[in-house]
Order: sequence, then structure tokens, then C-alpha cells
Amino acid sequence: MKNKINQNRGLKKTIIQVAEVAGYLWQKGWAERNAGNISVNIDQLIDGELDDVNKYPVFELPETYPQLANKYFFVTGTGKRMRDLARAPQKNAIILKITKDAKSYHIISRHKLDEPDLRPTSELPTHLAIHQQIAERGGSEKVIIHTHVNELVALTHSPDMKSKNRVNNIIWGMHPEAMVFIPRGVGFVPYVMPGSVEIANLTLIEFQNHDVVLWEKHGVFAIGESVFDTFDSIDIVSKSAKIWFTCMQAGFEPEGLSESQLQELKAKFASGF
Ligand SMILES: [Zn+2]
Repeated sequence: MKNKINQNRGLKKTIIQVAEVAGYLWQKGWAERNAGNISVNIDQLIDGELDDVNKYPVFELPETYPQLANKYFFVTGTGKRMRDLARAPQKNAIILKITKDAKSYHIISRHKLDEPDLRPTSELPTHLAIHQQIAERGGSEKVIIHTHVNELVALTHSPDMKSKNRVNNIIWGMHPEAMVFIPRGVGFVPYVMPGSVEIANLTLIEFQNHDVVLWEKHGVFAIGESVFDTFDSIDIVSKSAKIWFTCMQAGFEPEGLSESQLQELKAKFASGF
């Protein structure tokens, strides 16, 4: 299997990019212990079959994902550390293939068949639900990143920040790039048990209107077309929150960009790049 992956240039390149971004998440202090997870829809990179899936164990899913039937995903492993993924992506992540009935999946990338602990992230239901939603609307986003950005988690601990409007005023107001690159603002999911179907459903609702979604007192989810684009979205949102905290720590509430300055940016960049 390792050879088949390495011979596929597109897949190998994507895995190297995931490893690079995993390193950034760790360096930025957003990925303590085994925190965070990444998934990539790699189906378009695989011509035919990677291997005979029947050789590999099958695991049941909590929900059915009909739009994802027979599709391949590269997903970080449960309990695996981003800092290790950066160094050895294929040992700390898996390639899975959803079954034909979309009710379960095969893990097809085990190096040895005696690696029972190499399973996908516990947030797999949320990742698959988002990939399914993207497929339903014919979206081009392939990548989902979840990480624990300190400033964003801190922001959602404030009783004043439980509203999406308030959060987006800060995100957009602190830096012009946020309006340019995150024009739809961020979504907000109130605290719910991580890994549950409930949090997956609430996250889906927010992803109907946003590409970045905050989980109260927990972290952030983002979707994007490439691994780097997705990371950049999180980085920009994080930058705004960081500027806000820097001002507050310096003893003043930041003025923020005015409504007319924001509208000017919106008008100029509305058509995209
Ligand atoms: Zn998390």
C-alpha cells in the first residue's frame, strides 16, 4: 500500500501538505497533545482503486452518508499528535474508503494488519457530515481542519461573545484582511459534547453560511479547497482575535474598522480574486 500511495504524485503531495500544516498547528500552540484533526476528500486523486478493499477491516458509521459512498478520505488518526503527523503523516493518519452502502468504511492504509489502535479521529462523524453537505451542494471544498486556536477559544469564554454578530464584528473589525478573505464571517456553535452527532448537526447548519465555524469553549472548524487555503482561513480569523486581545491587554478597547471602511472593503473585493 505504501508504494501505491507514493507512486500517486497527487496523493503524496496532498499528504505532504497535510504534514506541513500539522506542523504549523503544533508550532502555533493550537494542538496540545492529540488535539485537532484534519480530513481531506482525496477521491479525485485516485484513479480506479488503491487496493482490494475486502482485504481490510470494515467499521460501522453512526450515520449513513449516501453522497460519500465509495469515496476515499485521508483522515488523521484518533489519539495521534499533530507534531508526530508533521514528521510521519502516513503513520499518524489513515486512508479510508466509504462502503458502497455508505454505512461503514474500510481502513485501507494500515502498515501492518496488527495496528488495531490506528483508527480515524473521534470527530469523524462531524467531518463526514460536512463532506456530505459539500457534496450535496456540489461544492469544491475538499479539506476540513479542526484545531484549538487559543485566542478563539478565549474569545468564546466571554459572556459578551455568545452572539455571532458580536464575534464577527471583532473578526472583521480588527484587520482589513478578515473582510477580504472571510467575507461570510464565522459561524458559532454553542458548547455541545464533542464527537456527538448533535454537534455535527449544529456545525452543519453553520457551514451553510460560513467557511469557518467556532465551537464555544473548544476550537474552530474550517473548510477549504486546499490544505493551505483552509489553514489560512483559520490563521486570518486567529489574527483578528489576537489583535483584539493585544489591544485589551494594553488597556484600551480597540476602535475597529468603521462600518464605512468595512463596506468599502466589501464592495471592492465582493467579486473575489
Ligand atoms: Zn477539538
